[in-house]
Amino acid sequence: MKPASLKTQVSSGGVIFRRSNDMVEIALVAVKGGDVWCLPKGLVEKGETPEETAMREVAEETGLRGKVIKKIGDISYWYYIRGENAKCRKTVHFYLMEYEGGSTDDHSWEVDKAAWFIMDEALNKVSYKGDRGILEKAREMVLKIVTSDE
Ligand code: ATP
Repeated sequence: MKPASLKTQVSSGGVIFRRSNDMVEIALVAVKGGDVWCLPKGLVEKGETPEETAMREVAEETGLRGKVIKKIGDISYWYYIRGENAKCRKTVHFYLMEYEGGSTDDHSWEVDKAAWFIMDEALNKVSYKGDRGILEKAREMVLKIVTSDE
């Protein structure tokens, strides 16, 4: 087989949070039959800003609407696209979002599940190291927001 070609993709996603009693909860989605838990995200489409993509993808995948508060950071990884014999380097921008409405019951058919988790539970649940790093940063950012409101 010919050597794999190289391509790049840019996606954008969000850590959507809400306060529940004294806890902070965030939403994750499960893929690959429900075994892999990750942050909601998707490809940035033509004419969209990464913030717009984050809001659209979070809404589509989790069923939840939220407003973007701040950029959290980026992650990058390589994966192989079998059908195209291509190696792809994907960069994903992540934004902190505050929950405004909607229900995880309305999650997309493209994901197996969508659910709220207490922040520390979510940190244990996420499958990818990159997502965990983003969640750790998000935890610090949310902590500052919550304590400044008190
Ligand atoms: P998108 O949601 O951006 O439209 P997709 O669903 O087509 O993308 P990815 O979620 O990027 O594709 O998955 C492609 C491959 O990369 C899969 O094999 C998946 O396991 C792997 N992958 C997904 N997220 C990560 C991550 N954060 N770190 C490392 N590998 C990942």
